[in-house]
Formats: sequence, C-alpha cells, structure tokens
Amino acid sequence: MSKKVDTGVIRSIDAIGRLVIPIELRREMGLNTGEPVHMYVENGKVIVEKYLKRCFLCGNAAQKYTVVHGKKICDDCKAKLNEVDVVEELCDDEEEIFN
Ligand SMILES: [Zn+2]
Repeated sequence: MSKKVDTGVIRSIDAIGRLVIPIELRREMGLNTGEPVHMYVENGKVIVEKYLKRCFLCGNAAQKYTVVHGKKICDDCKAKLNEVDVVEELCDDEEEIFN
C-alpha cells in the first residue's frame, strides 16, 4: 500500500494534543468514527493506521481468526498447525526437551 493521498490541508494540533484527520483521508482508509487506530513513529513520521488485531503466533494482522485457548490464530498459522509434518516436528522438539 504505497499509494499517496495528499489533501493539501494543513492542520494545527490543539492545546491538548488533538489533531483532526481530514474526512478525505478517513474515507480513503475506511476509518469510521469511534474506530481504534494504531499510532507510532517511523522514520520521523507519525503513522496512524487502522487498528487490526494480530495473530498470537506470527504477529501478522488479519481480518479473520480462529480462537484457540483464548488466543487468536490467523488462517496461515492454523493451516501450518494442521500440517502433519509440523505436528511431528513439534513432537520431536518436545522429546528433546523431556529427554
Ligand atoms: Zn499467524
């Protein structure tokens, strides 16, 4: 997602640190009122992105999860866990730990 949308609007941060995100940008990002966002600094820029919950195993953001013992697992990790080879590898590691 490297598309650049520049509204040309210059805004000021108010007395308590608030900044209004222009409606054009909110529409572009599909951000609705009351929706949580993730904010961080990267290469000297403040990044505001749509908040997506992350997979417990790989840390990737996904739209859909399977909940296992209260932890959210993405479809990719779920598929890997269902592969017999991975299960056998996990069993081998477990034997090494307990032997
Ligand atoms: Zn995952």
